[in-house]
Amino acid sequence: MKILTATATTQGRRPGDFNYCIEGELVWIGLVCATDRGDPDGGCGCGRAFGGMSSHRATTTAMIRDVATDRRRYTDALRASLEAQRWPTASADRLADGLIQLVDDWPVGTVVERRLDAVNVRDWPRHA
Ligand SMILES: [Zn+2]
Repeated sequence: MKILTATATTQGRRPGDFNYCIEGELVWIGLVCATDRGDPDGGCGCGRAFGGMSSHRATTTAMIRDVATDRRRYTDALRASLEAQRWPTASADRLADGLIQLVDDWPVGTVVERRLDAVNVRDWPRHA
């Protein structure tokens, strides 16, 4: 199934880019703090970041990859990550469904970026 994952691809295209995640790890879209709430290029970075579900670090670039898993396992992984980071887990199912739905229209290999509540295509997949 198509899943949002961390990538270094296209890093540096925006001045505020950063990537502390592990290439290919699953990422989610976390809440934005007061510092970045009105500006995705704010001082914190969370307003333009995806959160690494394993590393608990962040990246400004994510890639849609085809990962051999299913909705149940994906939701379990997200729930476990939220729990490990001491976030509430009650909305894990809804969050996972939202992430699955978000990437549904984009082909594998698409690179996306985040601007607060919006996730936009940064780079379409290259065909060899
Ligand atoms: Zn923040």
